[in-house]
Amino acid sequence: MTGLRFPTPDLLTRLADRLGPRGFTTDPDLVDTWTTDWRDRVHGRAAALLSPANAEEVAFVLREASAAHVGIVPQGGNSSMVAGATPSADGSQLLLSLRRMNRIRRIAPQDNIAEAEAGVILADLHAAAEDAGRRFPLSLAAKGSATVGGLISTNAGGTQVLRFGTMRALVLGLEAVLPDGSIVEGLTALRKDNRGYDLRQLLIGAEGTLGVVTAASLKLVPAAAQRAVAWVGLEAPEQALAILRRLEQATGEAVESFELVPADALDLVLRHIPDMRAPLERRWPWNVLIEATALADAPPPDEALGLALATAIEDGLAGDATLAASETQAEALWALRENISEAERIDGMAAKHDVAVPVAAMPGFMGRARAAVEARFPGVRALAFGHLGDGNVHFNVRAPADADDRAWFKADGSAVTRFVHDFVAAEGGTLSAEHGIGQTKLADFIRLAEPTRLHAMRAIKQALDPAGIMNPGKLLPLAEADAAQ
Ligand SMILES: Cc1cc2nc3c(=O)[nH]c(=O)nc-3n(C[C@H](O)[C@H](O)[C@H](O)COP(=O)(O)OP(=O)(O)OC[C@H]3O[C@@H](n4cnc5c(N)ncnc54)[C@H](O)[C@@H]3O)c2cc1C
Repeated sequence: MTGLRFPTPDLLTRLADRLGPRGFTTDPDLVDTWTTDWRDRVHGRAAALLSPANAEEVAFVLREASAAHVGIVPQGGNSSMVAGATPSADGSQLLLSLRRMNRIRRIAPQDNIAEAEAGVILADLHAAAEDAGRRFPLSLAAKGSATVGGLISTNAGGTQVLRFGTMRALVLGLEAVLPDGSIVEGLTALRKDNRGYDLRQLLIGAEGTLGVVTAASLKLVPAAAQRAVAWVGLEAPEQALAILRRLEQATGEAVESFELVPADALDLVLRHIPDMRAPLERRWPWNVLIEATALADAPPPDEALGLALATAIEDGLAGDATLAASETQAEALWALRENISEAERIDGMAAKHDVAVPVAAMPGFMGRARAAVEARFPGVRALAFGHLGDGNVHFNVRAPADADDRAWFKADGSAVTRFVHDFVAAEGGTLSAEHGIGQTKLADFIRLAEPTRLHAMRAIKQALDPAGIMNPGKLLPLAEADAAQ
């Protein structure tokens, strides 16, 4: 990013003085663990790791960084799939960790609201809501490390979007710090507030490029007292979609999760993750994990789900199905789905894509995209899994079976990704359904985005962050000229 500088010793001293020993370090043993992305693809360096304790300290950091033209990289759990929280390699940027701000300030069951600081880990929020007889209805496989601030800043999706939407639908209020150090005090959770531009929605999904989220008021829902979890084997994704539409008819809004798992993804989990068991006797080309829930006094969801699946089998839509008979079995089925990314990571480098097309078009898209990529790059193995009910799958392309995966990825990874992104754009879809743009999708985003969108985004960025200090090199370059560099 043009115009940004290395922090001077003077600036580092001022930051160290204000943040204290718990909030400031340059110790490589403490800093370097946070400068590589989750997928181990992007390796950065940071001049210092800052861990403020509150919004006022964040404001101090941003004011100083703006004045000094020093880049700031906000970071939560560092589980970004697009290297969104990884600093640049030149060591000029400051890593701003929100993990120390991990207090759940209050849970208000009567209001169905949780007020949580940015560093609260998703699993901890789940537990706190549950203790209060409520539920925070967003979950994803990185729930043990992903934080409230990161989830908001990526507008995370996950496995319950079908019913409850993405983070955009679940954030009722925000406290945030803008690049000039001013604090947005927007935690009051008004269900209605029509005063023009919505700063809250602007900051959601901004990937730390417009400011730092320090706390949020989050929407809770009644705890689901009953859940039914099923694993279904079938021949084709078209059948999966037909089953989803039937289930919606049969169970109303009970279906929360509808996750597609191809046979080769299940194979990877069974091969690489300990203690996993195949859920069905036969190896089906496609599988779906379904979860339906109900409140305590509603009819049990397993009856409706079981009945609908039995009819689907009779009608030849599904091949086989199993319904979890206990919480342990339900968890075991979920573990098969949630370990796919980890199993892929163990298996080797893959060109990964997070694409969406209209829901009804997804089965056809997956077939065409797989055929096209495997024809263009002979030997590669494409697999698509994930949130079929949202029209969003993770379309990943692995090296040919006999190739060295790292060498293949270095030689062909970018060309494969460009090909897949062009393909999804030609089909009217998006190259980022839920992971964001970060660094790894930046070039293709700029190349394929509508000029009007880019122009408006740059205008917003310029207005709020004229020095370009916030997460430089992610989401979008500040000026048109930077895109060419
Ligand atoms: C195994 C696995 C499964 C996943 N599954 C899903 C999934 O199903 N759905 C999904 O949407 N994502 C998924 N992800 C991606 C990831 O978990 C999400 O993007 C998550 O929201 C990131 O949270 P984090 O706290 O780790 O943020 P980080 O990775 O630390 O940061 C993510 C982005 O947010 C910015 N940021 C972080 N905190 C703040 C803050 N307080 N203020 C401003 N900006 C901030 C960072 O600069 C960066 O741009 C998965 C990741 C893994 C590893």
